[in-house]
Amino acid sequence: MSIRKVVKYGEPSLREPSKEVHKVSQKIKVLIDDLLDTMYAQNGVGLAAPQVGENYRIFVIDVSTGDQPLNPMVFINPKIIKKSGAVISHEGCLSFPEAFTDVKRYANVMVKAMDRNGRSFVLEAKDGTLLARCIQHEFDHLNGILFIDHVINRFEAEAELEKNNLPPIQLEKILNEPDLEPEIEKLIQERAKKANDKQD
Ligand code: ZN
Repeated sequence: MSIRKVVKYGEPSLREPSKEVHKVSQKIKVLIDDLLDTMYAQNGVGLAAPQVGENYRIFVIDVSTGDQPLNPMVFINPKIIKKSGAVISHEGCLSFPEAFTDVKRYANVMVKAMDRNGRSFVLEAKDGTLLARCIQHEFDHLNGILFIDHVINRFEAEAELEKNNLPPIQLEKILNEPDLEPEIEKLIQERAKKANDKQD
């Protein structure tokens, strides 16, 4: 087991679609263990294989906090089979050190994947929890999609990238998300109203 180097935004492998895992071989198991080691070493909650330069459809997540026992979760060849609702998610990424911005996510997802032993499982994450958002973030990495492609305010995101010496946003990569946008717009208005009420 070892800690791998996490590639930074700008590296082409982050934009490449990853390939399916056909067999959970010893080599794949080593990669999974390294992903977990690397994620824990960097205090991350998730890490996808392309972030260590290995374009395989694998990611790991651990959303345990504080004094809870570690809860490593492994997803091989994941598929999102259901998604609904919307939530504003304040996200960062180990490939974007120190940069955070608000992005659009589904509130609820159901994912089907294989675990480290090649066994198939289905997991549902609801109500915009960290797990629900993290699954979407890591899943995207396998398709060369990055969190900034879901950005809500691109000017805010651009300033954040610049401040942290990261390459600029690729405007042509920003996603059209018609099934999320009306709900996100409502959430933004609610948030603004709350902030106003507080001031009064
Ligand atoms: Zn990421």
